[in-house]
Amino acid sequence: MFSKEVRQILPVIISPITDPLSHDVFDAGFLYFGQELQLTKSMILHKQIALMHDGYDAIYAVSPCVRLEKDTTTSRHLLEFSQVDFEFKDYSKEDVMHFMEELIVHVFSFVKDECKYELTELGRSLSVPTTPFKVFDKDEVEEKLGIDYEKLLSEQEKHSFLIISHEREFYDKEDPVKPGKYLNYDLVYPEGFGEALSGGEREHEHEQILKRMKRLGMDLEKYSSFVHLAERGILPKTAGAGFGVERLVRYLTGAKHIKDVVLFPKVPGEKVVL
Ligand code: AMP
Ligand code: MG
Repeated sequence: MFSKEVRQILPVIISPITDPLSHDVFDAGFLYFGQELQLTKSMILHKQIALMHDGYDAIYAVSPCVRLEKDTTTSRHLLEFSQVDFEFKDYSKEDVMHFMEELIVHVFSFVKDECKYELTELGRSLSVPTTPFKVFDKDEVEEKLGIDYEKLLSEQEKHSFLIISHEREFYDKEDPVKPGKYLNYDLVYPEGFGEALSGGEREHEHEQILKRMKRLGMDLEKYSSFVHLAERGILPKTAGAGFGVERLVRYLTGAKHIKDVVLFPKVPGEKVVL
C-alpha cells in the first residue's frame, strides 16, 4: 500500500449506516441516547465518502468488522474479524483486479521467501500464482456447476482465481452496457479455502442507488445520510475491495479452521469465552 501511495485511514466502528450485506445476520445495532447505531459490518459506504475529500484518491483501512453470522456449519466465519479494505477514485473493475493480483502475488511471495521455517513446521507448501488470474463469469459457472459453484471451483483450481458479475448489494454498479450484470468480482483461494475478497465498481448516481435499494426492499430512511450525498451529486466514482485478514492467514498457514489463526476467536454458534 505504501509503495503504491495508498493512504491509510483509521477505521469507523460505530455509525448509523453500515454495509447492508447480501446475507442475513443477527442484529448488532444498539440505541445510544435514542439514536440507532450499528457496529461496522464493512467500511464500504465510509470508503466512498472518504474519497469525496481532496487529496484522498486511494485509501485503505484495516477495519474491524462485526457480523453475527447465522451459518454455524462453515470453518471460514468469525463473528469478529478484520478486513483490509481499499478503494480508489476513478478506478475501473479491471484496474482493481490488476491491483489485487499484484497484492496477492506480493504477499504470497513474501511469505514463501521470508517464512520458510514456519511453513516447514506447518507442513505447508505455498505456490505463488502467475498473473493474470483465471476469471469465471458467475452466471456461466452457476449454470454448469449449480449453486455450489464457488466451493466446487475452489476445490478444483490449483491457484487463486476470480469470479465476476454477481448480483449483490445496492452499491455494486450494474453494467450500463449489459443490464443485469454487475461490475464486481470475488477473489477465491484454491484447495477448498473459498472466498478471499469481494469488491466492485460502486454505484454513485442517485437514481441508480434509489432503484437498486428499492429493488432490494431496503429501508431508504435508514441510509438517508448516504443517499443525501448521492442526491447532491457529490459521491465520487470509485472502485475497490476488501479481504479478510484471518482468511488470508488461514490460507497461508493451511489451518483447518479460521479459529486456529486468531487470538480470541468468536465462532458462530459457540459460546464466546474471551
Ligand atoms: P464481504 O463484504 O461479505 O464480501 O466480506 C469481505 C471479506 O471479508 C470476505 O471476502 C472475507 O475475506 C471476509 N469475511 C467476510 N465475512 C467474514 C466472517 N464472518 N469471518 C471472517 N472473514 C469474513
Ligand atoms: Mg463477499
